[in-house]
Amino acid sequence: MLVMKFGGTSVGSAVRFAEVAHIIKREYEREQQLVAVVSAMSGTTSALIEGARAAAGGQEERYQAIRDGLLSRHLQAAGELLGDTPEYAPVEEYIRQRLHDYDRLCQSIATLGEFTMRGNDAVASIGEELSSRILAALLRVQGQRAVAVSATTLVRTDAQYGSAVPDMDASRGLVCERLRPMLEQGVITIVTGFIGATAQGVTTTLGRGGSDYSAAILGACLDADEIWIWTDVNGILTADPKLVPEARTLPELSYREAEELAFFGADVLHPKTVIPLAERGIPLRILNSYNAQHPGTLIVPQPDGRRPAMPAIISTEGLCLIGVVGNPYSWSLQMAQRALKSLAEAGVDVLMFSQSFTERNLNLVVRGHDQEHSVHLLRREFERDLRVGLLSDIGVQEQVATISVVGMPNGDKSTARAASSIASQAFAALGKLGVRVISVGQPASAYSVSFVIPESEVTRAVPFIHHELGLGATSSAA
Ligand code: ADP
Ligand code: ASP
Ligand code: MG
Repeated sequence: MLVMKFGGTSVGSAVRFAEVAHIIKREYEREQQLVAVVSAMSGTTSALIEGARAAAGGQEERYQAIRDGLLSRHLQAAGELLGDTPEYAPVEEYIRQRLHDYDRLCQSIATLGEFTMRGNDAVASIGEELSSRILAALLRVQGQRAVAVSATTLVRTDAQYGSAVPDMDASRGLVCERLRPMLEQGVITIVTGFIGATAQGVTTTLGRGGSDYSAAILGACLDADEIWIWTDVNGILTADPKLVPEARTLPELSYREAEELAFFGADVLHPKTVIPLAERGIPLRILNSYNAQHPGTLIVPQPDGRRPAMPAIISTEGLCLIGVVGNPYSWSLQMAQRALKSLAEAGVDVLMFSQSFTERNLNLVVRGHDQEHSVHLLRREFERDLRVGLLSDIGVQEQVATISVVGMPNGDKSTARAASSIASQAFAALGKLGVRVISVGQPASAYSVSFVIPESEVTRAVPFIHHELGLGATSSAA
């Protein structure tokens, strides 16, 4: 039994859907029992949320334009893939219906002037419902027995909208009752990633990038042999290969190492993914849907002790830094608590934060598409404080990126020493290059460090750190 997950980058267009169908068919021939977990087409989830936020602010035209864009993008993909086959009409109808639902949801959000987290999940889940229908129909056109299954019927969660927690026992029961019989009959099931539902049947989401987690939850419930996560690069590498072409794939990682890496990147791997797998010792592979022959990264309980201990640079672009600036007389920890709480309650993912007590401010890193909403929430929260001068400003630095350097000590003492000096080497490299470091975060482990730098510097900073850490193709690993 194999569970494969295809990320948004792997189903971003008709051509990509076709490649995914090809991979599924090939693996199905080998495996016979196969679940494919699918994300929304790249950019869809962010667009859906952006439209609903615009609706809450009364910007009717903006959400309608977003809906129209999503409608034409999905219809175009479905049209190219399903053409004049009998599968096209029901999929077209489904896409129109779900985007009509989106319209209605946005209208009620606009009427209320309020966008709750429950509403967020209702809206954000639509992308996966669409992509899973398109993929299942494509496989049927190609002669496979394939069915799209909504994870709302399989993954039972609590009601913490925006980052719901799965109830593994209940989910296992649902998966055994509803998914396993189809798999035993050889039906390829295409399951929506990212989403689940409460016991009352209300749709929830597992957090941004949560389709990786969905695959792990389903894999654990099915006691799958392996989980394969298909993305657009050759596994987890010493750096993003889009920035450093000679970056090398980390062939094997332990669950613990993978968790550490996932924790630092907004993409790569959802940080909760390894939890359900580690409990059952299920191996996880990260593979490239654009280069299916590459072995990628294998994550296992006991990696080969002789593997090289290479650090990895995880970079995330498209972020912004919001500074909540206090003054020496009024700043208190409560200010930081209020800022974080107001963002968390609205489902904004804060990727990194640091508080400077001497400067009396709090720096928060959020995704670029959350910027406007976050500033709005913080200005609302601190409206009085700003008016009476208890806070001096809420400022934004647009277009920043984070670079995290994570050491992989590989268990032995000498590599642990090397790993712990990685933070200082990375810092020195940025200094040598003259890159302005906006903020630094270092966890207790000492093997990792994260920097916030201007996004424009990423293309030179990442290759340079990679080189300075001795990770280039010709030099030996640090
Ligand atoms: P998906 O849509 O498949 O979920 P993501 O965009 O969430 O893909 O995550 C994969 C991306 O993570 C890659 O395309 C790459 O740009 C980025 N990335 C950043 N650092 C690394 C790294 N060290 N190794 C692999 N990928 C990285
Ligand atoms: N579509 C969701 C997101 O963009 C989940 C995922 O892609 O994993 O966050
Ligand atoms: Mg992802």
